[in-house]
Amino acid sequence: MDERYSRQVLFPGIGKEGQEKISKKHVLIIGAGALGSGSAEVLARSGVGKMTIIDRDYVEASNLQRQQLYTEEDVAEKLPKAAAAEKRLRAINSDVEIRAIIGDATPDLLEELVAGVDLMMDATDNFETRMAMNDVSQKYNIPWIYGACVGSYGMSFSIIPGKTPCLNCLLRSIPLQGLTCDTGGIISPAVQMVIAHQTAEALKILVEDYDAARTSFVSFDLWRNEYTSLKMSKAKFAGCLSCGEERTYPYLDYENMTKTTVLCGRDTVQIRPAAASEISLERLAGQLSSLGYVVKGNPYLLSVEMGEERMVIFQDGRALVHGTKDLTHAKSIYQRILG
Ligand SMILES: [Zn+2]
Repeated sequence: MDERYSRQVLFPGIGKEGQEKISKKHVLIIGAGALGSGSAEVLARSGVGKMTIIDRDYVEASNLQRQQLYTEEDVAEKLPKAAAAEKRLRAINSDVEIRAIIGDATPDLLEELVAGVDLMMDATDNFETRMAMNDVSQKYNIPWIYGACVGSYGMSFSIIPGKTPCLNCLLRSIPLQGLTCDTGGIISPAVQMVIAHQTAEALKILVEDYDAARTSFVSFDLWRNEYTSLKMSKAKFAGCLSCGEERTYPYLDYENMTKTTVLCGRDTVQIRPAAASEISLERLAGQLSSLGYVVKGNPYLLSVEMGEERMVIFQDGRALVHGTKDLTHAKSIYQRILG
């Protein structure tokens, strides 16, 4: 262990004591796309004690350009990102205890997962989940690090309950909502720059060096050579429903979460059943094959070709309908297959 982390221990900001702290911490990473795979790799190599990573998607060819944990083999096997990430992270650092969850980070699940967690990393692609993370962070007093990028543009902000404004406060001054989903493409260096900001802050928080923690909101555009750091100390809003005195944690209300969602920047609709239930993929594959459908799969998911569309079904009954953005149409396809 000494040799493995020697360069990090030599760094004065961390030292032996800091390394000891890092090795005892538990980080929850929400999303295993571009930001999630980058953050997970940095934190695994840094020797974080425990990591939980959750993701609802599986690996596709278009991910390989920037999602650094994945390979062509993962694409060929259609491995869920959480499962592929777990495999790769174990190979990188077997000291780290890794838990991978294939699923949707609903408010209920987040509240369950944060038990014993010291820090949450934002690696989601949607606003709904970020707001739920923000409420969970305030309710359970767990810091989290916001990060997002589109094109060559990216941003990051650390939210430490009781010390900084929360994401809900920030919404009053920065129009973050429109920036979370974009079809305009993305370059890998923008992802890496956000990961660098997020993981540097993560290390500071894990070694409990709150004096070093950045309190400003960083944004940059690598193509236009712009870098901005905005002071946020005045952004805290006393009437904030997430971190104010009369807080209600509005984003933890399950009813606020839609059950059918168009996925970020894609012709894909996610459908989540009202109540999660384990389904037998093997039996379903048998039934569908006998009805003449072309079915492929692995132990985690089933892919069904249906003319223009393709539906991928996970063990918990959740499905991704590819080839449409029409919620009603996607629902009818789901019902045809899963009743
Ligand atoms: Zn707030």
